[in-house]
Amino acid sequence: MAATQLGFTGMPTRLFTCTPSRLATWLDCPRRYRFVYVDRPSPAKGAPWAHNSMGAAVHSALAAWWDQPIQRRSPERAAALVREKWIGLGFRDDEQSDTWRDRAATMVSNYVTTVDPHLEPVGIERTVAMRTDRIAVSGRIDRLDRRDDELVVVDYKTGRHVLTTDDARGSLALAIYALASARTLRRQCVSVELHHLPSGDVIRWDHTDESLARQLERAEDIAMEAAAAEASADPGAFPPRPGPMCGWCDFVAHCPEGRAACAPQASWTGLAPEIEPLAAPELQ
Ligand code: SF4
Repeated sequence: MAATQLGFTGMPTRLFTCTPSRLATWLDCPRRYRFVYVDRPSPAKGAPWAHNSMGAAVHSALAAWWDQPIQRRSPERAAALVREKWIGLGFRDDEQSDTWRDRAATMVSNYVTTVDPHLEPVGIERTVAMRTDRIAVSGRIDRLDRRDDELVVVDYKTGRHVLTTDDARGSLALAIYALASARTLRRQCVSVELHHLPSGDVIRWDHTDESLARQLERAEDIAMEAAAAEASADPGAFPPRPGPMCGWCDFVAHCPEGRAACAPQASWTGLAPEIEPLAAPELQ
């Protein structure tokens, strides 16, 4: 549902309500955007992905770990929480699921040895929101730390791809989270971090006010494109954008162009061939 606010003339101005994920979907493929956000009922998705099951369990376990009393925030408890939260969907068979459950438990227990369990994050899976003249945007942050007088946005990553500074610097979602956190909590927030659990890498980027403003303007521009398509009666307003990612698209069964672009991937292909959990560098 679109939000509204009063404009200067006293007439309501319609804001485009969105999340960073919605904007990213538009950028990736307007047709997939239509399937996810416009078509009702939404077309049936394909089978669940094993890497998403693993990622969801890891995120849930870490959220629950921070919710424990401090004396229970141990590596052993972290591993147990991964096992409790495990989702066995999308794996080839029970054996593969069990193997990955154990790998994920080791990965998370190693990760929590690199954080101070006495810290009390400002937010865990906290929703933040902000408005501009054009958009009302909200999103959920994995973890929001207070370090000295600043807030730091922390985003957990469990994928197979090695991350670089460009991933943190260029992330629209992280920039929006930083801006929305600063506005919500009235405290400086310009730093964002990607915590890549498989490798233990922590990738940090310190934005400037200017770089955050550029990201916000980018978000508004993307939102206006999506809004224009939604308002259009043109059936071509949501063109497919076929490419290698079609093999990973939940809606490829409904998209002839996507099926022609590449073969669907098996639901467990997104798992890294090997996870060698490493101790992460010390966090500040
Ligand atoms: S299969 Fe490819 S082109 Fe089709 S909706 Fe999905 S991402 Fe877009």
